[in-house]
Amino acid sequence: MALVAAARDEIAAERARLVAGAPPRPLATLAGALVARLASLDGGGPPMRVINATGVIVHTNLGRAPWPEAAIRAAEAATREPLFLELDPETGKRGRRYRRAEEHLVALTGAEDALVTNNCAAALVLAVGLAGRKGVVVGRGELVEIGGGVRIPDIVRRAGGRLVEVGTTNRTRVDDYEGPLREGRAAMVLRVHPSNFTMAGFTEAPDAAELAALAHSHGALVIDDLGSGALLDTAAFGLAHEPTPAERLSGGADLVLFSGDKLVGGPQAGLVVGRADLIARLRKDPLARAMRPDKATLAGVAATLGLYRAGLATQEIPVWRMIAAPIEALRARAEALAARVAGATTAPLAATVGGGSLPGETLPSYGLALDGRPAASTNRLLTALRAGEPAVLGRIEGGRVVLDLRTVDPAADAELGRAIAAALSAARIRE
Ligand SMILES: *Cc1c(COP(=O)(O)O)cnc(C)c1O
Repeated sequence: MALVAAARDEIAAERARLVAGAPPRPLATLAGALVARLASLDGGGPPMRVINATGVIVHTNLGRAPWPEAAIRAAEAATREPLFLELDPETGKRGRRYRRAEEHLVALTGAEDALVTNNCAAALVLAVGLAGRKGVVVGRGELVEIGGGVRIPDIVRRAGGRLVEVGTTNRTRVDDYEGPLREGRAAMVLRVHPSNFTMAGFTEAPDAAELAALAHSHGALVIDDLGSGALLDTAAFGLAHEPTPAERLSGGADLVLFSGDKLVGGPQAGLVVGRADLIARLRKDPLARAMRPDKATLAGVAATLGLYRAGLATQEIPVWRMIAAPIEALRARAEALAARVAGATTAPLAATVGGGSLPGETLPSYGLALDGRPAASTNRLLTALRAGEPAVLGRIEGGRVVLDLRTVDPAADAELGRAIAAALSAARIRE
């Protein structure tokens, strides 16, 4: 039964590949894929490998941040054996759930307390819940669609909050918030970082500290959804400054929310930092139980945050290693690869951070340009790269396929070279 089902699945997958324009694979390869499919049923098979040569560092569709080694080891250890997850080692009684990640967050941001949830969207739902049935004021320039069709106004409503919009799309001032706060129509000011778009021209956004002071004078809470939330200064790497959680807390935010797997560069998680009394209320919310991360994630988050405290982030966290990679090193790798792979030339490129951070900002980069023509079109070449093993993801620029090395682990260069050579010949044969 398993054999028949696996054979059907493999044939369907091959058909889909052919429809998408990929070259047909020889019978021996198909048989090998079928064996691998069967072997994967007992958990033995690794997931399909992908090399991210898109130049988008935090690529949402490719799993966002690759974990640091330390996080992988910590997660593995946490899943292999029992651990003090919710047991206080000193008293032997039930204690707080795995405090280490939260302790790191407190140390890194200067917050009174911290909480880790499943993801930042979950943290947002929990935090908006603090407003109860009262109003939540959001500036019209911050009513963002995060991605995948998920929109801030929908999250606020779903969390039970009553959305109060102020200002205009391009300009919102502190004064705009005054009315709803003074009239008691709102118990919360929600600030949402415009993380995935830029506005230029006749624009104005309220100063965070001034807005916080106004909200507090009317007894309202200030929640700051930073999205990415950098723990290092991005300006030190030639990028625009991405606001840090510590800055927003000292600017008066009561809670700051950010993701674990964007610029923080660790496992998927929502990181909440801020006032101890509010964090305590979030912990007690029955919804918090539905939004808590598992032990492997918690161990991975704690290990990732520990790297920041140890001053090792740019060496050990892949996202920061990619951001910090010197252009000369990328160029040297591109030259070495181009010398080995016929049909590949070096190309100066521009990489982006991605993952809903620093929109419009680029990092100078280097990579390869492939020209399969006249034998193979760029689209067919891109498809052949994606159908390879490992799959390689690139992009089309100036009529050529380009592969950006800033987002490729240097340890994967040799493998990338072989995958490119295979794709070039497959695309040409097929044409
Ligand atoms: C990405 C993002 C979120 C959601 O974070 P997840 O961790 O993916 O749930 C929320 N708000 C903003 C502003 C974001 O950029």
